[in-house]
Amino acid sequence: MVESSFIDRAFIGICRGFGSRLFRKDGSMRREHRDAAPTALGSALPAEREDGRVLNVNEMFWSIEGEGVRVGEPTFFVRLAGCNLRCLFCDTDFASFEEMTVDDIVSEVQLRDVTWVCITGGEPLCQNILPVCRSLFRNNYRIHIETNGTIDPDPRLYEYIEHWTVSPKTQSITPGLTYITELKYVVGKGFREERVEELRSDYIYLQPESSDPEHSQRTLDILRRHPDWRISCRIHKILDVQ
Ligand code: SF4
Repeated sequence: MVESSFIDRAFIGICRGFGSRLFRKDGSMRREHRDAAPTALGSALPAEREDGRVLNVNEMFWSIEGEGVRVGEPTFFVRLAGCNLRCLFCDTDFASFEEMTVDDIVSEVQLRDVTWVCITGGEPLCQNILPVCRSLFRNNYRIHIETNGTIDPDPRLYEYIEHWTVSPKTQSITPGLTYITELKYVVGKGFREERVEELRSDYIYLQPESSDPEHSQRTLDILRRHPDWRISCRIHKILDVQ
């Protein structure tokens, strides 16, 4: 058995310090988190590289895009299961999934009258999404992806995916992301203005954490210094829709 690295042990220590739900009562790490933590800290490679003909789908639903440049546009969301990170504040249940073929997914999309399909997660680049993106594109859908910016995409995806949203959860964005439509940063206690990778994206969006008044005020103060950046509010939360 390979011994855990210092950084893995540090990660586990931090999680324990926060009383995380990652651990059982006996102190051992739950399987899904134990497997994922080293990937989160040690590599920019995808957790899986399969042929992409079957994907692990967490959920699919119609809604409106609630954030960023595309705010308000009707969209069909395909949430893929799994993520290479384990953010302590994560509120997305991405662990459960149903295996679906590319044809099944496209058929579900075709039941709705939509222009845009957003592939999100979890971290969608943990799975091989090239076949589903190719199929959606050939069926005349416009494709949007939301990624955490830690995994180099297959370069062929740029032919099919039009809108790239990166929500960085680590200090830097992987160099393999050669085009980014919008960068979305959560402004909370951990936000560092100097780490915004402004030159890598068409748009910069700042989202006050939990709509907290203190974070909102700080966001406005930052915008005074950066007139080309924008504030983002999650309108699907305001409307209380999925
Ligand atoms: S990157 Fe996103 S989905 Fe993954 S653990 Fe962090 S917040 Fe959750």
